[in-house]
Amino acid sequence: MPPDPARQAETARMLLETARYLGETLDPTRVYERFREILRDAIPHDGVVVSSFDPGEQVIRCEYAWVEGELLDVSIFPPLRLQATGGMQSEVIRTGLPLLTNDVPNRVRDSGTYYDVDGGGRIRKVPEEGPPKTQAALMLPVKHEGRVVGVVQLMTDSDAYDESQLELAEGMVAQLGAAVRNARLHEEALRAETEAAAARATARERERAAQVLEAVGDGIFSVDDSEVIGFWNRAAETITDMPAEEVHGRTLADLGGGWATLTASVPAARADDRPRPVTLPIDVDGRELWLSFVAVRTTDGVVYAFRDMTFERQFEESKYEFVATVSHELRTPMTAVLGAANTLLRGDIDLSPETSRQLLEMIATQAARLSEVTESVLLAGRLDRGEVDVERTHVDVDDVVGQTVEALEPNLPAAVRIERRLGAPGAVIGDANRLQQVVINLLDNAAKYSPNGGTITVRTGRVDGRIVIEVTDEGTGVDAAERDRIFEKFYRGELNDRLVPGGTGLGLYICRELLERMGGTIRVASTPGAGSTFTVELAAAKR
Ligand code: ADP
Repeated sequence: MPPDPARQAETARMLLETARYLGETLDPTRVYERFREILRDAIPHDGVVVSSFDPGEQVIRCEYAWVEGELLDVSIFPPLRLQATGGMQSEVIRTGLPLLTNDVPNRVRDSGTYYDVDGGGRIRKVPEEGPPKTQAALMLPVKHEGRVVGVVQLMTDSDAYDESQLELAEGMVAQLGAAVRNARLHEEALRAETEAAAARATARERERAAQVLEAVGDGIFSVDDSEVIGFWNRAAETITDMPAEEVHGRTLADLGGGWATLTASVPAARADDRPRPVTLPIDVDGRELWLSFVAVRTTDGVVYAFRDMTFERQFEESKYEFVATVSHELRTPMTAVLGAANTLLRGDIDLSPETSRQLLEMIATQAARLSEVTESVLLAGRLDRGEVDVERTHVDVDDVVGQTVEALEPNLPAAVRIERRLGAPGAVIGDANRLQQVVINLLDNAAKYSPNGGTITVRTGRVDGRIVIEVTDEGTGVDAAERDRIFEKFYRGELNDRLVPGGTGLGLYICRELLERMGGTIRVASTPGAGSTFTVELAAAKR
């Protein structure tokens, strides 16, 4: 039959319209719907089914199904395997050629698997469960780069199809294939764009988190499941004196000194749990730091945060020591006072006037000791709080030292002798009472730490505009390691503590603090076992 020009023109118009109409949407399901809308006017049908074919899996899946005016849920169609022989869809896929049949009931008797679906979505296997309703079908391959990637089926229950309808359908399906591909590409591009944006946001978030971790004051580091250190922030570097490059890739065990047992000592909390802090001594370059750790388990390891509590720990310890020392220092004289007072109060025994006097003297001495201890504690506290004012007047040093020695001499133990070598050095600007307090403390100590007696030498002199007071004894001496520490609050020399028990460790601290307020200094030189020299220096007043 010669080609009918009017019909050809109509086909071309239809295809053009198909291309334009399908190209207007980028949503794949909308593309199918538009395809069917166009078909409605072009080729009569009762059903349209579009399937995709995955050459890798060799499986045919339903993508779109419109039957008797109803759009069906494609999940009701079981995926079909490509058949080696028979089956109309399989044949189209195998050959890549369109197929027209006007005798479906006969066709479905071959070896293929056939289903018949109605508008309610009810599926029947044909011909086993009765003959198909469909009489004629057009089956068209959807191709991409020469390979079949899908099949479009048009079905009718009453009419028959002809070659020109097949031709038109073929052209329209080619447009459909292009439109669906286009829509999928667009969808893909959108997804990629969304993913990229999400990845960019995550990266930004990570960067910000890393900046925060770097900036916080707590040391933070992470280890993986094999305890290999990954992240190590700046605070961790500062606190431990170990730069990140030095610890990266090493294990906690490699770091030694307390780090090695971290996992065992610090329980790692799960994400929802509250981490429990654990304070541990950690050796850092020979120094002992008290670090408070918390640990949180992550998917691939543990994150630790730590804080340097060394100062707080020392403070706690010194507070504890203070209470222990002061209560000990108070208990001894208080017990003596209580004992003596009770004895005096007893009505059942007659005390000789001599015994009574001795008891009263003991009460007076011990009460003086009590007030000395409390005075020192109170004065140290006031010095700490900056509440001690120091006068700034001309003070004649030899006068103050001379008077102090004279006042103390009668109370010294018999085995101790004082030698004065006062060099008439002149005046300093300071506070006479505070200076006297310093000299009393030094002389008291010199006598106290000379358990076997000996000579205490008090010298004054003048060196380069400075006035020097030296108190030298022949006592126990001070260990080299303790020469700075004895000026600290509450510090008591370890050996002396055993040899000469008693004392609050406040005397030298008070001396140093008072002298500082007068612009002066104090230091010690000593040969342990042979004695010490405490040297006070103050600026001489201009005459
Ligand atoms: P305290 O005498 O109450 O212990 P101090 O502050 O006066 O407190 O002295 C601190 C420490 O310094 C003493 O415990 C002692 O070990 C040491 N010390 C002070 N003076 C002398 C001294 N003259 N000889 C030896 N050690 C001394």
